[in-house]
Amino acid sequence: MQIKYGIIGGSGRMGQEIELLLEESGHKCVFKYDILGEWKSGEPEVLIDFSLPKAFASTISYVKKYKIPLVIGTTGLSAEQIETLKSLSKDFPVVQSYNFSIGIQMLLKCTEMLKENLPDWDIEISETHHRFKKDKPSGTALMIKNLIGKDVNISSLRLGNVPGDHTVSFGGLGEVISLTHSATSRRTFTEGVLNSILFVMGKKNGFYSFNEVLFQK
Ligand code: NAD
Repeated sequence: MQIKYGIIGGSGRMGQEIELLLEESGHKCVFKYDILGEWKSGEPEVLIDFSLPKAFASTISYVKKYKIPLVIGTTGLSAEQIETLKSLSKDFPVVQSYNFSIGIQMLLKCTEMLKENLPDWDIEISETHHRFKKDKPSGTALMIKNLIGKDVNISSLRLGNVPGDHTVSFGGLGEVISLTHSATSRRTFTEGVLNSILFVMGKKNGFYSFNEVLFQK
């Protein structure tokens, strides 16, 4: 089945990678919106947003206009914007995640296990991303911090063209455990986006995480 999709931020690093994988998979881009404006050749059946928080209001209005599901990976969203997504999801299905790689979902599961078993250990998070990344700390580092549920320190490095590295370290007296995830290519995120599109198109409404896409089909 060919899916006609629209993308917000189609000219960006992620937008181009998403388009590459979706075209390879037989799907068709019929709508784009980015800093240069709007392009349209048909009616989209699903909207993807990998842009910047500045584009958020446009994304919401396009979902309402076309009455279609949304898969959003844009980071740096405010608490208010997340609440807007939750309201939107009462009428349209929404998948929102600050990280669409399966490896980060595994890191989150391991982090939860360590957090429960090592309540007195020190915890630190560090992340490294390419020099063009706008938000700091990364959305994924904030997801890890949110899961830990304590005010843990996050160190952020901006270096060269690193797609995204995250480490969470647990320190006790005499030993340290570190969990590290490295995205070696943006392809891992785009495969997660494709899975999310296939998942969300079968739903009526609701606010879904990438964890639900992977494990609660
Ligand atoms: P990028 O800077 O290469 O691209 C940004 C895109 O947004 C461009 O197409 C630009 O034209 C568009 N844009 C900027 N301002 C806009 C506006 N006001 N209105 C409309 N469009 C606008 O960035 P990128 O590296 O492709 O990353 C895009 C987003 O995806 C970032 O928020 C990044 O953190 C996030 N990201 C998420 C994941 C994930 O798994 N969730 C993975 C990688 C990146």
